[in-house]
Amino acid sequence: MAGCILCGGAREDWLNCPIDAKTLAPTPYGRVTRCRKCGLGAVEPLPSPEDLPGFYQLEAYYTHGESHFQKGEAQSFSDRVRDNLSWRFDKGEPANPDALIALAGKPADEICVLDIGCGHGALLKRFQKLGAKTAGLDPDPDALSHLKEAGIEAHQGTGEAPAASLDGRVFDIVAMTHSLEHCLDPMKALATAFSLVRPGGVFLCEVPNCACTHFERFNIVSEMFDAPRHLYFFTPENLRMAIERAGFVVESYYYDGFLRHFQNGWRATENHIRDGVVKNGGATSAMPPVHSRLETVRLLMETALSSKEKKYDCVGFVSRRPA
Ligand SMILES: [Zn+2]
Repeated sequence: MAGCILCGGAREDWLNCPIDAKTLAPTPYGRVTRCRKCGLGAVEPLPSPEDLPGFYQLEAYYTHGESHFQKGEAQSFSDRVRDNLSWRFDKGEPANPDALIALAGKPADEICVLDIGCGHGALLKRFQKLGAKTAGLDPDPDALSHLKEAGIEAHQGTGEAPAASLDGRVFDIVAMTHSLEHCLDPMKALATAFSLVRPGGVFLCEVPNCACTHFERFNIVSEMFDAPRHLYFFTPENLRMAIERAGFVVESYYYDGFLRHFQNGWRATENHIRDGVVKNGGATSAMPPVHSRLETVRLLMETALSSKEKKYDCVGFVSRRPA
């Protein structure tokens, strides 16, 4: 077992899922080790770069604009009460393009934004609406043709191997939302991001928060596990460490993703994955519980008033490349 890519610390066994959560087919890439020092989780062994595209050949993957979620049971009266309650306690803050443009310090129509691992460009479209010039970097040809149709500059590549068409370019804002955890080499991807932000420019990085109680409880059946598409598993603390190590200066951070944990569709999806795990002989790491209505009420009571780090399933950092 090699040392941690972030801090060099020793790693130990953590989670092990015998199947791919989206296809329910057996996978050799469901074993995740964790650094004893900084807590960064990593798939071990890592797949090879040639394996990666195959993991995304799915009938319904969210970057393709479709949902892979199970429908779940019809909403009962008590489900509505629960969902309303979780909505009231949800103070999550999604990434805010207006605030990022303000931070970049220019009028919106003079701002150039690059999204690394942009998929179908959901975030870029929000910047586009505000008048910013937008560009996306993604390995998926289907995503790239969608970007072109939407009037977004499309570049083929990854964080580790960016398109040559981006050579020498810099942007006012560079985003990596839910893409760093997909990278084979996150530190290399962060170095790419650093080189593509103009000095003084803004970098947005959001990933699943694997320190939250939902992930700790449901781990391998959680939406945020999703190995082997997800290859690294961050906490707010070690994500900050990675961003700072890449040279950025952190300005602020935010958390998002709460009320969905309790909804019937989310629960059904987790139970669907769990059934697949059971059919394939179970997990060799701790088996998560069935996500029953009772279990979800327990989770809601436990997390509604807990710290943001324990409550929300996503964490994002807004940082700056020093001028
Ligand atoms: Zn570490």
